[in-house]
Amino acid sequence: MNTSFDIIIIGSGPGGYVCAIRSAQLGYKVALVEKYNTLGGTCTNVGCIPSKALLDSSEHYHQAKNKFTTFGIELEGLELDFQQFMNRKTEVVKQNTSGLEYLMKKNKIQVIKGTASFQSNTEIIVTNEQSQQEKFTAEYIVIATGSKPKSIPNVTIDKQRIITSTEALSISEKPHSLIVIGGGVIGVEIASIFNRIGTEVTIVEYADRLIPTMDKDLGKGLMKVLKKEGIKIHTGAKVESAKNTGTSVEVSFVEKGKMVTKEADYVLIATGRAPYTKGLGLEHISVELDGNKSIITDQDCRTSVNNIFAIGDVTNGPMLAHKAEEEGVHVAEIINGQKPTLHHETIPSVVYTWPEIASVGKTEQELIDQKLPYKVSKIPIGFLGRARAAGEKDGLVKILSDPKYGEILGVHIMAPRAADLISTATVGLVYEVTDSDMTRISYPHPSYSEAIKEVFLDISGKGTISL
Ligand code: FAD
Ligand code: NAD
Repeated sequence: MNTSFDIIIIGSGPGGYVCAIRSAQLGYKVALVEKYNTLGGTCTNVGCIPSKALLDSSEHYHQAKNKFTTFGIELEGLELDFQQFMNRKTEVVKQNTSGLEYLMKKNKIQVIKGTASFQSNTEIIVTNEQSQQEKFTAEYIVIATGSKPKSIPNVTIDKQRIITSTEALSISEKPHSLIVIGGGVIGVEIASIFNRIGTEVTIVEYADRLIPTMDKDLGKGLMKVLKKEGIKIHTGAKVESAKNTGTSVEVSFVEKGKMVTKEADYVLIATGRAPYTKGLGLEHISVELDGNKSIITDQDCRTSVNNIFAIGDVTNGPMLAHKAEEEGVHVAEIINGQKPTLHHETIPSVVYTWPEIASVGKTEQELIDQKLPYKVSKIPIGFLGRARAAGEKDGLVKILSDPKYGEILGVHIMAPRAADLISTATVGLVYEVTDSDMTRISYPHPSYSEAIKEVFLDISGKGTISL
């Protein structure tokens, strides 16, 4: 085994493995250290991939149970095989993790299994499962150690009844009832999965709406849809405690000045994630952390130590897989002496509820707070021929642009496959295309993308065609 490298990357999530591949493509001798047995980090093993597998499975079931009749499809004896529901998710994760093993071999990246800890700016010690230790050196080291769920005061995650997304995505029985603390991204995605398969779901959210960091109209729209589908939602409610009683869990929260206590089989803690640097031996190097324990980096992801970089959830910015990937590529190219640019402000965010929600750029509230002039236009997607054909009534497209030059400032979508629709808008923002220019491209008919075209027609003053 080699022990000396050009670049060592610690952590094999989407930040780490993408950085490793790009570095190898550029001709560097690369090692990737991972403490777990499988590659892929949070995203592949316990995050993006398993949650989307279960979201898709649960949506199929929900459609078959509640919507097929409208389409003239009658089913008898429809049942959910919970074991198969979970097995399929496990199989999807396995396909992805083995795909990564293959990519590491193909790119001649040395995978080192064990926990890495800094000894100095250029040396790490890796401790494997058998407690054996080995020293490795590199000219550059990239920290890509990700994040872990964080709890709130008076709530201890016991992984039995007081659980995180990791346990929820591998739960062995279908819960009869579930309380979700936190109506952010994880909260609404996991609430959707279990609600669709028949669990009684309650969301308790501190802010006055769901997904509070996204544009207000999206949170409002999502609340309507989830309530319609049977989820009980308490907003403006602050959780004070959660107690495992052995057979259930009791959650107490303050709502409109009153203490409310609710009981359920499980409680999911979805109140955010914290950067993970435990065991990394940061005390042996002078990398600086901020008040949230994120590693401080400059615009090129360089830490306060010149040859050490940090990418993904362990640094500042949105905790998103594609943000980590962009940074992974960026660091490899910076080390290579290239002059790439990172577009942090145009990284899209997506919530995989149904309909999906996707945003890029500024929210209306951000523009108000920053006293920036803007014009706004929004259109419901229900008017589209495509939406009528599919029986999709809920959703909207909202666009914010500069009143003088027509520069696109923000695009917010709630629609089927919004995750895919948002890319057109991202191109517009990154390349500073005007709202008027966006009307000069052809949008297929019938498609959900026609809602984007209509809003651009309206906001640029040309007038809509179909409304
Ligand atoms: P991670 O993926 O967390 O990987 C870090 C890796 O480092 C881990 O494998 C860890 O074991 C390893 N490690 C840590 N310390 C050491 C050490 N000392 N030595 C060796 N290895 C170490 N994002 C999206 O963009 N889209 C989604 O749909 C989405 N869904 C999500 C759903 C859930 C339930 C969750 C929890 C997250 C989701 N995310 C999603 C967020 C996404 O998973 C993260 O933003 C992403 O994984 C961050 O990548 P990363 O490379 O920074 O770190
Ligand atoms: P989040 O920050 O999105 O949401 C946490 C929510 O918990 C907030 O709305 C907050 O107001 C609420 N909260 C905090 N304390 C509370 C209390 N005491 N009582 C009630 N509510 C309380 O965090 P998350 O949903 O845990 O997600 C963590 C990270 O994972 C996010 O940064 C997200 O970007 C990432 N993620 C992304 C995706 C995706 O891209 N589709 C999916 C899942 C997770």
